[in-house]
Amino acid sequence: MPPRRALITGVTGQDGSYLAELLLSRGYEVTGTARDTQREVPEGVSLLAADLLEPGALHAAVKATRPDELYHLAAPTFVPDSWKDPASTLAAIAGSTAELLLAAQRLKPAMRIWIASSSEIFGDAGESPQNEDSPKRPRSPYGEAKLAAHRHAAETREQFGTWVCSGIAYNHESPRRPERFVTRKITRGAAAIKVGRERELVLGDLDAVRDWSHAADVVRAAWLALQADHPDDYVIASGVGRTVRDFVAAAFAAVDLDWSDHVRVDESLVRAPEATPPVGDPTRARQRLGWKPERSFEELVAEMVAADLEGLRGAAPADPSAS
Ligand code: GDP
Repeated sequence: MPPRRALITGVTGQDGSYLAELLLSRGYEVTGTARDTQREVPEGVSLLAADLLEPGALHAAVKATRPDELYHLAAPTFVPDSWKDPASTLAAIAGSTAELLLAAQRLKPAMRIWIASSSEIFGDAGESPQNEDSPKRPRSPYGEAKLAAHRHAAETREQFGTWVCSGIAYNHESPRRPERFVTRKITRGAAAIKVGRERELVLGDLDAVRDWSHAADVVRAAWLALQADHPDDYVIASGVGRTVRDFVAAAFAAVDLDWSDHVRVDESLVRAPEATPPVGDPTRARQRLGWKPERSFEELVAEMVAADLEGLRGAAPADPSAS
């Protein structure tokens, strides 16, 4: 049997890299897209350039690969930034999804597709935890765009029988997470204080709640969803809400420090509070896909801190984009 072919948009991102590794280990032929081809990808992955704002390039990537499985992960991912350029956010997320679904319909209708949806589609849902049927009231252009993509995927499945799943993933982290996200900012900060490179860590709202999983667990859910008998939408989450303070405490405990000696809150980093805590109910994924996270919250934090300690001991430069 020839190897199965997969196309991953956003293969150079955190999730794309974990997914590529998983698919390669399972014998897939993996092609990935990125904005340009000057990027590092796991050995064995072919890289194509495809900008999300260029429908022709996305169509060409599908045409060139005609994959059995398409994982659409690429997106501008930092939520607050989506207010700076809402039009591009909508086009990059919703427009690219529509284009890829159309390309699949035309070029290979049997293709199985995973669309990276997001907990941000729920926004002010009014209930927590959220499941697939919870009210969807996004509060940012990012969330609106993800919801448009999500709805379009569902409608395409209904009307044309396209084999597409939306994965409503909650926050997912790893040592590959960029430092502008709070988890990596915290683990790098704790490691930098431990090795004496920095003295304090300045954060925003410590009471903000998130449902954090490991990115490797989330991409495994994506793969499982595409092996199922029927396409569906799935909440992918740990099911447990934790505060930023919980994450801070776990990260500093991992380096034997008391966080309260080192963390300062800067009001300018505090975002508007969320009415509904973003916590997911992953019952459907557990029951229908047999999915559950393999790594605990404590293991995730410990892995991230250990990787940052190692990076700093090797004198890796600080990330200037950290907020
Ligand atoms: P998000 O869920 O996509 O917004 O992921 P982030 O990792 O950027 O933020 C998670 C939560 O941490 C949000 O509620 C932020 O308000 C909160 N937070 C607290 N301090 C910080 C900080 O210094 N940087 C960031 N990025 N978030 C912070």
